[in-house]
Amino acid sequence: MSYLLKKEIPVEDGYDMVVCGGGMGGATAAITAARLGLKVLIVEHTGCLGGMGTSGLVCAFDPMADGEKPVVGGLMQEIVKTLYERKKLGPEITPEDYLKNYLTWIPFDPEALKILLDELCVKAGVEIRYFTRVIDADAQDGKVKGVVINNVEGTKYIAAKTFVDATGDAVLSKLCGAKYREAGADTEEIMPATLTGLMAGIDWEQFNKTQYATPCHEQIERAYNDGVLSQCDRHLVGIFRIGENTGYMNTGHIFNLNSVNTRSLSDGMIQGRRQLNEYLEFYKRYHKGFDKAQIVATGTLMGVRESRRIVGEYELTADDYFARRQFPDQIGVFSKYIDIHPKDTSKESYKEFCDTMEGSKLKKGECYGIPYGITVPKGFENLWVSGRCNSSDISMHGAVRVMPAAAMMGQGVGTAAYLSIKSGKPATKINTAKLVELLRENGAILPQQQLSETMTKNS
Ligand SMILES: Cc1cc2nc3c(=O)[nH]c(=O)nc-3n(C[C@H](O)[C@H](O)[C@H](O)COP(=O)(O)OP(=O)(O)OC[C@H]3O[C@@H](n4cnc5c(N)ncnc54)[C@H](O)[C@@H]3O)c2cc1C
Repeated sequence: MSYLLKKEIPVEDGYDMVVCGGGMGGATAAITAARLGLKVLIVEHTGCLGGMGTSGLVCAFDPMADGEKPVVGGLMQEIVKTLYERKKLGPEITPEDYLKNYLTWIPFDPEALKILLDELCVKAGVEIRYFTRVIDADAQDGKVKGVVINNVEGTKYIAAKTFVDATGDAVLSKLCGAKYREAGADTEEIMPATLTGLMAGIDWEQFNKTQYATPCHEQIERAYNDGVLSQCDRHLVGIFRIGENTGYMNTGHIFNLNSVNTRSLSDGMIQGRRQLNEYLEFYKRYHKGFDKAQIVATGTLMGVRESRRIVGEYELTADDYFARRQFPDQIGVFSKYIDIHPKDTSKESYKEFCDTMEGSKLKKGECYGIPYGITVPKGFENLWVSGRCNSSDISMHGAVRVMPAAAMMGQGVGTAAYLSIKSGKPATKINTAKLVELLRENGAILPQQQLSETMTKNS
C-alpha cells in the first residue's frame, strides 16, 4: 500500500549553503563556509551541535598527532585547544597529547563542546535550525536545488546553491539519488553499535591504580560467568576520564544493529540502556573506585559506527592505507589504525579485531592522506558529504570514521563549496591546488609536496 503525499509548502531561498546534520562533520563545514563569507544554514535534528560527540555521548577525540608532531590542525585543533584553555578536556590531558603524543585519545566534557560549537557558529554567522529534520530533496542530473525540512512549524522547502550531507547515515545523499554502500547489505557485515553513557562519583585515583591488574578480557569472562554481564563481549573499550569524578562509558556492544532500520535502532536503545547498567555493576564489583558511582546520562543518539557510505568520485581503500598514500588534493592527513570492532562475542572475532588493529598500526611519524574526492558523491555538482558517510572501503572506513577526520572533511568541504561558488565551477572541477592552499592558510596540516589543479578520481 502507498499514500501519495501532495501539498504545497512554503519556500525559503537565499542561502549559499545548507548543511544537513550538525555533528563534527557538519558543524565544521558550516563554521568554515560562514567564516569565508557564505550565508549558511545548518539543519539539525536534535537540540545541539556535536552529533555523536554530544547527543551520542562519545566523549573522546581520536588521536590527533603521530608521536612526533600534530597531524590534525585547522578548525579541529582550534576546537581542542579552546576546550583545553577552558579546562574542559580530561583533567590529565596536556597540549602534548594533541600536538605530539602517539595514539593518545582526548577526552572532553560534552556540555562544553555543545557551548563551544554554538559560539563558533553564532560568531561566524551560521543560522542554526534545531529540532529540524531533512526529509526530502529536490535533485536532478547531479544538481541539488533544494531540501525539504520538517519541524514543529510544519514542512518547508529550502533552496540553496550548495549542500552538505553530514547526517552520518548519508540521508541527504540517498534522498538525492546518490549511490551508496550499506553495511549489512550484500556481503558486508555491520560493525556493532554501542550506546554510551556518563558516570559520576568515580574515585579515579583508586581506579587508575587497579584497572589493569587483570587483563580486560579475563575480567569480562569472569563477570559473564558470575551473571553480572549478559554477554561475554571480550572487547571492552572502557571508561575515559572527562572531569574530576566523571567518566564517559564506552562499554559493551549491540551486535547486528541496523541503524537505518528504526525498529532495530529502537530495540538497540532498550538493550543499550540495560547494558550500561550491567557495566556499572561490573565496575562496582570488580574494580576499586566505584562505590559511589552512578550513571547520570545515556546517549540520546545510538552510537552507530557504520551504516551508509557514499560512492564518491574517489574511494579510499585499505591499499591506500598500507601504502601510507599521500594525494595532491588531500584535505587532511591522519594516523588512526584500522579499527573494526568484533562482529560477535566469539573468541575468534575478538582475536581478528586485535590482529587487525595491531597489524595496521602506523609507526610514529607516519600518516596517510584523506583525498578531496571521498567527499564528493559521484556525478554531483553541488553536493558534498562530510564525516562518517564518506566514500571509503570497509577497512579504510574503520580508520577515518572518527571525529577528527570528520572535522577535517568538514573544513575541506566548507572551503570547497566556497571555491565552487566563487569560481562558478562544480564540485568536481574546482581547482584543488587552490583548495589545498586555502586550507593551509587556515591551519590545515597538509604535507603533500605536489599539488594538482584537478581532483584525484577513480577511473
Ligand atoms: C560508540 C562509539 C565510540 C566512538 N569512539 C570514538 C572516539 O573515541 N573518538 C572519535 O574521534 N570518534 C569516535 N567514534 C566515531 C565518531 O563519534 C563518529 O563517527 C563521528 O562523530 C561521526 O561524525 P559525523 O559528523 O559524520 O556524524 P554524527 O556525529 O553522527 O552527526 C550526524 C548529525 O546529523 C543529525 N541528523 C541525522 N539525520 C538528520 C536529518 N535527516 N536531518 C537533520 N539532522 C540529521 C544527527 O542528529 C547528528 O547530530 C565513536 C563512535 C561510536 C559509535
